Amino acid sequence: MNTIADLKQRVADAIDDRQDEIIAIGETIMGRPELGFKEFETAALVAQTFAELELDHRTGLAITGVSARIETGRPGPTLALIGELDALTVPGHPREDPTTHAAHACGHNAQIAGLMGAAAALSDPRVQRELSGTIVLMAVPAEEYVEVEYRYGLQLAGELEFLGGKPELIARGEFDEVDLAMMIHTHAQPDANGMAAVTASNNGCVVKQIRYVGVASHAGAAPERGVNALYAAQLGMAGINALRETFRDEDAVRVHPIITHGGDLVNVIPADVRLETYVRGKTTDVIDAASATVDRALRAGAMALDAEVEIRSLPGYLPLVNNSAMAELFLANQRGVHGEDGIKRLGHRTGSTDMGDVSHIMPALHPSMAGATGTNHATDWDIVDSQMAYVEPAKALAWMAVDLLGNDARTARRIVDDFEPLMTRDEYLAYQRGVMREERWAHGG
Ligand SMILES: [Zn+2]
Ligand SMILES: [Zn+2]
Repeated sequence: MNTIADLKQRVADAIDDRQDEIIAIGETIMGRPELGFKEFETAALVAQTFAELELDHRTGLAITGVSARIETGRPGPTLALIGELDALTVPGHPREDPTTHAAHACGHNAQIAGLMGAAAALSDPRVQRELSGTIVLMAVPAEEYVEVEYRYGLQLAGELEFLGGKPELIARGEFDEVDLAMMIHTHAQPDANGMAAVTASNNGCVVKQIRYVGVASHAGAAPERGVNALYAAQLGMAGINALRETFRDEDAVRVHPIITHGGDLVNVIPADVRLETYVRGKTTDVIDAASATVDRALRAGAMALDAEVEIRSLPGYLPLVNNSAMAELFLANQRGVHGEDGIKRLGHRTGSTDMGDVSHIMPALHPSMAGATGTNHATDWDIVDSQMAYVEPAKALAWMAVDLLGNDARTARRIVDDFEPLMTRDEYLAYQRGVMREERWAHGG
């Protein structure tokens, strides 16, 4: 066994032999969805799988992360293969957790299944003998940036610095020894996205918590003595809406506030109204500028009503830039399975992922593969093709490890050497820390 092709066949056969197990992992997690930084059962399943594969691993990274290492014993770069542990809150999803309403409506359960399948194939010493460098298998918490108030509480309690899984793991040094990284997301709509797709880039974002403070008063008897924080918030949102036409199409700005607390009692003028929003854009410059614009609109709402507004800007995710050399390796493998028509190169996309943060500091790839149906983050999202969603990504990850780390890791070394980071790790952490800002605005105050 000495060619890359033979090695790929070996890992694919190993994954095919275990496909029932891999599908079972995906379905078990689908049936047990947990929100970010609370993925304790999912993490335990990962740790148990690593233990069964006799892989050295560590648990409790950024609360719930689990990481295993495969050392080939030969020098070479370190490749991280990543899967995300977390679900979303999607009330009404057929497979929601009835208590928390968590549901795997973004397919992260499939990422873990694929990662476990790749781990099994790559833990074979006959495979490792042909590779150089190190493989780190990372099950990471909290990709979905949700439950902002809860996570902010964890930050105040000193349990987290950042509210997303990968930023937190970067801050804790878990990526310090990693030279390049990849993961595979699941997608629906194979018509548009093919069986396997890579975007050129994705939006980044900052996250805001906003609180309007008014004055409570009897809503019927004495509204003139109150200051209506809900109306102030509505004006703030109207201001944001009025600004939308000033955002250039090519900057892909997205601002989508929600009201998380709209008042307390119907016969009391609302004095405490809270919003959350993301401000997304194509580059950090675009995001920073749009963020300042949004803050101005939010202040205007407070000014009109003589209310106060507190704006807390939190570090979100950086724009994703997929490494083109890694993308071509991935697409070449998928072309071999699905043909030219089965692969898609997509342009810029407006969602965000914390894989963007990783992509700023090292060569990184975040492609997607089919196997789901419905709308991402919605009640109709489901895994419909377990082979495609759970088993094929395992092969795709293992093949990338072979491509990158086979042949004395020549390809990985070249990609790492050619890579010009958008930010160093220190610059990245300084940037994200710089986003963190709190402002309290009061008219004349
Ligand atoms: Zn998602
Ligand atoms: Zn996702």
